[in-house]
Amino acid sequence: MGAVNVTNVFKRYGTKRALNGVSLSASKGYITAILGPNGAGKTTLIRIITTLINPDQGRIEILGKDPFKEKNVFNKIGYVQELPNLPPFLSGKELLSLSARLKGVNKEDIKRVLELVDMTENADKKIAKYSKGMIQRIALAEALLGCPEVLIMDEPNVGTDPILNLKMRDVLNHMRREGVTIVMTTHELEEVRKMADKVFFLFQGKVFFEGSTEDLVLKFLGIRVIIETQ
Ligand code: ATP
Repeated sequence: MGAVNVTNVFKRYGTKRALNGVSLSASKGYITAILGPNGAGKTTLIRIITTLINPDQGRIEILGKDPFKEKNVFNKIGYVQELPNLPPFLSGKELLSLSARLKGVNKEDIKRVLELVDMTENADKKIAKYSKGMIQRIALAEALLGCPEVLIMDEPNVGTDPILNLKMRDVLNHMRREGVTIVMTTHELEEVRKMADKVFFLFQGKVFFEGSTEDLVLKFLGIRVIIETQ
């Protein structure tokens, strides 16, 4: 069993079927990507895993617990939503201070997460002045406060530039080495190829493929590529 398990999850919005019996498993200390085109159901799945919405049917298990029933499991989960909507009038550091207090995390941890995402120099600027990539990184820093065991990210690189994407990749690789389980969504095969250990390809609310990134590339492109192993 993985650190995150999704079993036979269904979700409809009115007559629209967003998820149609999705099962997946993310192993401890690995980066698992949920890849799929727009409308595949990725965000719906992430919202269910993080209990923001209920599934119509199916089961979620994180670190052996049902997050809908055992809320204390959230102490071990970090979550970065798609295009994070952070309060513009706060500085990055103020946001992290507030968040640390709410999470009951030692203030010392703020320094660690700021360094990790390379935002120490910009920590005193207002979020209103941040670029999309900086917002993404401060949101990641917030999620990493308190050293979560599981990190869930919805489209972490959407709308950011390639240099910042590289930085994000560094941070996620570091977290993986620390044993953190990472689940991320994306619609870019290239991003999966460079970052993920395992991929679930979601299409029209169903898992069409699961396997290594190399297998995915072989299956969809019919060519063997050298997978970067960083
Ligand atoms: P994207 O990459 O564009 O964010 P996605 O893979 O995350 O797409 P979802 O946002 O989960 O996909 O959407 C799955 C399907 O459910 C889509 O057809 C979408 O239009 C529909 N949908 C999502 N949210 C709602 C909602 N609140 N009400 C009605 N339909 C919705």
